[in-house]
Amino acid sequence: MPSLSTLLLALATVSLALAHPVHEHAQARRDIRIIGQTSSSLVRRQDAPELQALVDGNRSFRDADPALLKKLADDGQEPPFLYLGCSDSRVNDGTIFNAKPGTFFSERNIANQFHSTDGNTESVLAYGVSVLGVKHIVVMGHYGCGGVAAAIASRPIGKVDAANGAVQNWIEPIRELFASSSRPEIVELRERIKGRTDVEEPENNEPGFRALVEENVKASVGRIAQDSIITNHYSLLASNSSETANERRAEGGPAANVFIHGWVYDIENGEIKDLGISVGPPGQPIPAIPFAKVAGVAASAAQTDHTVQVRCEEMCKSKRSFLPANH
Ligand SMILES: [Zn+2]
Repeated sequence: MPSLSTLLLALATVSLALAHPVHEHAQARRDIRIIGQTSSSLVRRQDAPELQALVDGNRSFRDADPALLKKLADDGQEPPFLYLGCSDSRVNDGTIFNAKPGTFFSERNIANQFHSTDGNTESVLAYGVSVLGVKHIVVMGHYGCGGVAAAIASRPIGKVDAANGAVQNWIEPIRELFASSSRPEIVELRERIKGRTDVEEPENNEPGFRALVEENVKASVGRIAQDSIITNHYSLLASNSSETANERRAEGGPAANVFIHGWVYDIENGEIKDLGISVGPPGQPIPAIPFAKVAGVAASAAQTDHTVQVRCEEMCKSKRSFLPANH
């Protein structure tokens, strides 16, 4: 005869098992582990050699110049350049200039676009110019840019998924540039594909495509030059005595002069070309650019430069009365 306590224990075990079958417990455990992605015999681990490459690369990077990393951590950053480039993995600012940490304050997006209405690019410009005191703003386009190519190709037909829709919205200003540009290579390409609804992305060496890459850089340089952050900065410089500007520099304030440059990177050979459209504070000479110029765009670039400078001088004049009395 079993004792009473043994009988009660057996009954309790049976009722618990009925209420929570064993396989449900196991299933719940498995779900938690899968959701959490913990290492477990229940979850098969995937090989990801590309992640190991990051670990190895990071180790050699850390070993290369630990003193510089310490210095940047202690002293903070003071980058001389603000870089606006494409998100394209082949055109990484640190890599193509063989640059060290602390060189570039960067913003990258599809087809290196600047828009004052885009909080991302606008805040990077504001912080770079007003707080970090960058000396040069580099807009870097690149031949073979997928974002620019997509703006030449026909719009997707039918239902556009959310991801494609986001890209299409972002490149819309480049479609408009393609539709309105008077650059001969672009006009020729536009005429050639007129009325077609099946236009594919152009080859990298298509002249109209290369010209649109350059015009897109010019557009970003022009928009930056006319942004209130830059016109206010130039206005401040114009109304400052050189003495005040020197005092500001001595106090670690923003650099007095900020120049905006438009360059293009060639993904086939790594060369960087200058579009010859640099903009600077009114009356200030543009520093010599050590990169070779893109052939055939210098004349129109000089026109752009002049237009932006004249426009800025007009805006600076009109804004001067709003500046504080001590400026
Ligand atoms: Zn690109």
